[in-house]
Amino acid sequence: MLQRQTAVFCRYPGIIQRCLRRMSDRKDSRSKQWNLQPTTTARNTFNAIRAIIDTSTAKPNPEYETIKLAAGDPAVYPGFEPPSSALEAIRESVNSEKFCGYQPAHGNATARKAVAELYSTPTQSLSSDDVLLTCGCNGALDICFRGLANPGDNILIPSPGFIIYTTMLDSYGIGFKEYRLLPEQNWDVDLYHLESLFDSKTKAIVVNCPSNPCGSVYTKEHKLEIIKLAAKHCVPIIADEVYGGMVFADIEYKSFGALSTDVPILSCGSLAKRYLVPGWRLGWIVLYDSVTALSSEVRESLVRMCQVILGPCAVIQGAVPKILKETPTEFFQAINRKLGENAILVFDRLSKVPGLTPIMPRGSMYTLVGIDQKQHAGFKDDYDFTERLYSEMSVRCIPGKAFRAPGFFRIVLCASQAKLIEACDRLSEFCARHCTSL
Ligand SMILES: *Cc1c(COP(=O)(O)O)cnc(C)c1O
Repeated sequence: MLQRQTAVFCRYPGIIQRCLRRMSDRKDSRSKQWNLQPTTTARNTFNAIRAIIDTSTAKPNPEYETIKLAAGDPAVYPGFEPPSSALEAIRESVNSEKFCGYQPAHGNATARKAVAELYSTPTQSLSSDDVLLTCGCNGALDICFRGLANPGDNILIPSPGFIIYTTMLDSYGIGFKEYRLLPEQNWDVDLYHLESLFDSKTKAIVVNCPSNPCGSVYTKEHKLEIIKLAAKHCVPIIADEVYGGMVFADIEYKSFGALSTDVPILSCGSLAKRYLVPGWRLGWIVLYDSVTALSSEVRESLVRMCQVILGPCAVIQGAVPKILKETPTEFFQAINRKLGENAILVFDRLSKVPGLTPIMPRGSMYTLVGIDQKQHAGFKDDYDFTERLYSEMSVRCIPGKAFRAPGFFRIVLCASQAKLIEACDRLSEFCARHCTSL
């Protein structure tokens, strides 16, 4: 090797000179002072919710006990404790001492198999090869976005929608176009608008059902219409189904993967919201692809991306099979029932408040409430509304603009009934006081 290099240098003495020159250039051009600046990537990474919460200067009114309805983290609300199956599974995983080492980059095969079994459908039987484990659902979305789109391509995302979509896409220089959801139609997708957005650089559609922040759950027929559009344009669907199955009353829930026969679905999910353990950071991508549109190269490229960070914590991976197999249906039913009752309670009470238009949610753990501009002309926007609501009534909600839903605010339905009733009473008093056309 050394001999060959020497030979090259002797044959091309210019190379040596050039190398030496470059080294001395580099020495000169280096500044002698610290000059650390945020990178372009860092500058382009921006979480609108954090920005809004961090810039808020409002202080709660000391006359009232604070009611927090902002955090999209079920673990902070009493009554939303994880199932004992999950806690036991973690203890067993630690005690087994088997999960200290590196796991395969896209996840332990037994854990992947358990996810595959849970998400197999009567028509699509999945294997562990159809599953990649990731660091939460966000990790799954991250790999799907970068795995399907290059910088300069675009992905269609819902508006209103989960804020991390734009945070990630901006950070990677991947474009996005927002398709409208229609509040007057229970936040269904405006299909005409969606269709008008496709272009030659569109690489995926993101759908989120049940939805954060809307609380909407599409009917089977509506999902089939979305799938039909995707098929027409040959664009895969990234289904954010982190709230999959979290639906109220006897609303039917079918995942996109269970409905699609001709469009590949990359279904992103996690333990976070269904098992009430967002801090455990265990998520997955489930690949439904009955038409084998995802080539083996694409599948391998997704696995290669997992090889950088090496997946979620091994101890949690070790617990996955037990968590998925042994959490009783009653656990989910009880959570859904509680959220459904809270949804009705909030909807009924806020429907009577002047200038507020709640939209009845059908799933997830959120509801968006509209603020009537005419009746609440005294507020500059939804941010002003939530800031003053906090400083006057000590009720904390997130303004819609954090989700690209200006004119709305979001309520998290995990608080206790007593807290929700108190919050609705305070909202009522607040709105009556500020309403401009009573
Ligand atoms: C909470 C949430 C996620 C993130 O899930 P993690 O598993 O905590 O990463 C993704 N999408 C939506 C819509 C969410 O609300």
